[in-house]
Amino acid sequence: MRILYVCSELFPLLKTGGLADVSAALPPALRLAGCDVRILIPAYPALESAFQALAGQPQLHLPQLNGLGPQPAQQSTDCLPYLMLGQLSTDPTAHCYLLRSPALFEREGNPYLDSKGQPWPDNAIRFAFLGWAAACLGQGLDDAWQPDIVHCHDWHTGLAPIYMRELAAGDPPKAATIFTVHNLAYQGLFPRSDFDQLGLAPDLFSMDGLEFHDQVSFMKAGLQFAQQLTTVSPSYAQEILTPEQGMGLDGLLRNRAHALCGILNGVDYNVWSPEHDAVLMHHYDVDSLEKKAHAKAQLQTRLNLQERQGAMIFGVVSRLSEQKGLHLVHAVIDQIVQGGGQLALLGSGDPDLERAFLLAADEYPGQVGVFIGYHEDMAHTIIAGSDVILLPSRFEPCGLTQLYGLRYGTLPLVHRVGGLADTVVDATDTTLRDNTASGFVFGDFSVMGLQDALTSAFAMKPRAQIWRSVQQHAMRLRFDWTVAAQSYLALYRKVAMRS
Ligand code: ADP
Repeated sequence: MRILYVCSELFPLLKTGGLADVSAALPPALRLAGCDVRILIPAYPALESAFQALAGQPQLHLPQLNGLGPQPAQQSTDCLPYLMLGQLSTDPTAHCYLLRSPALFEREGNPYLDSKGQPWPDNAIRFAFLGWAAACLGQGLDDAWQPDIVHCHDWHTGLAPIYMRELAAGDPPKAATIFTVHNLAYQGLFPRSDFDQLGLAPDLFSMDGLEFHDQVSFMKAGLQFAQQLTTVSPSYAQEILTPEQGMGLDGLLRNRAHALCGILNGVDYNVWSPEHDAVLMHHYDVDSLEKKAHAKAQLQTRLNLQERQGAMIFGVVSRLSEQKGLHLVHAVIDQIVQGGGQLALLGSGDPDLERAFLLAADEYPGQVGVFIGYHEDMAHTIIAGSDVILLPSRFEPCGLTQLYGLRYGTLPLVHRVGGLADTVVDATDTTLRDNTASGFVFGDFSVMGLQDALTSAFAMKPRAQIWRSVQQHAMRLRFDWTVAAQSYLALYRKVAMRS
């Protein structure tokens, strides 16, 4: 089966969140399952520098049609994108289409935001071209490779299904479309005036089309027109059907509930395993958990925390955003420190949260260590060296950090929501007895809810044997991409049969 995997992030070349990790791991897992997968991604500088075009491959120019497809205001040749087939040094066995356009994609830094943290003003046309390129490939642009499935990820790719339908002009599209929601909170909203540049029939700016409160929504386009919808955990697939979590799109999603399912993300255990983690100076595994003490010492040194083996370290590795519930963590710092614990936090984002945590580090020197920024090695150091990894997210489509924590025997403490609810089992008398406990889970999204869970964690830590057996159970759990890939493959077959 031929799959065109369309995305805007790919670890380790370009990552702003979990989408990049998924894009690095799912295509290889699908290949192992027998699929022929090609990635389509914009030629951001980091991608371009890792890319080698295949010898003898022509440039694939996207058709310029009157009234259909992106109609940029400036028609410079610099702007008009084309596709190049090649390989990325990060995965030389796989083919990848790079969407090249210096004017649109040759920008350093964040792919969506400028240096002031504002969305690039031409995002609508930039990502319209990504959807257009996907649709053209889906409709046979490359004579030598016709995909069966065009698998789109998040709002950046949301226009692909409607462009495919319009290109097919009444015939069945040549490939089936799947749209995966990694986070419904990021919707790709643009002013109404941008609609004219998209090259879509005017009546598509409507309730049943792309219109969302008088704006253009790329997310809505994907949800409305893809044949199949998925989210990255089963619970999130249910939650987004409710007004509380549907971000204004729950009505549409309820209408399409028959075509929606959740497939849990996996973990790339080549990157995330304490047995061979390149960042750790001393490795450990499920049978040598005492060596995790080295990881703790490494973390305490890195973050200028007091070197106390007895201190219970609570780790955070996260975007600092409203979604992640970190204002709750800030509110419990006192409880953590008074209880003899330490906080190790890595993150960046909301300037107010950044400031608040930096102030806390000043207030509790040696007990609160904060690193503001994005830092892969530090993420590994914290996840390995902490006793507990905190994810008190308000909502969480899947969450990867708790899965990494499990693998390192760093017990997740999470809000019972989305993928967190699907992957962490609260330590209660019953779950401890039947050995299914893997962390701490609280239901009430409030400071008190988090405080109760912290109290449970503090109470369990001195019961060394119990703590260790929960760690060992957590480390033995597997969230393999091979399992997720089988679920996607089954879905691809079902959707391809239907279309
Ligand atoms: P989201 O995509 O909502 O940010 P996920 O849990 O799905 O959340 O994925 C986040 C990924 O980004 C994880 O791999 C996590 O380790 C990583 N990450 C988040 N913040 C940082 C940071 N400041 N430095 C390094 N890695 C980070």
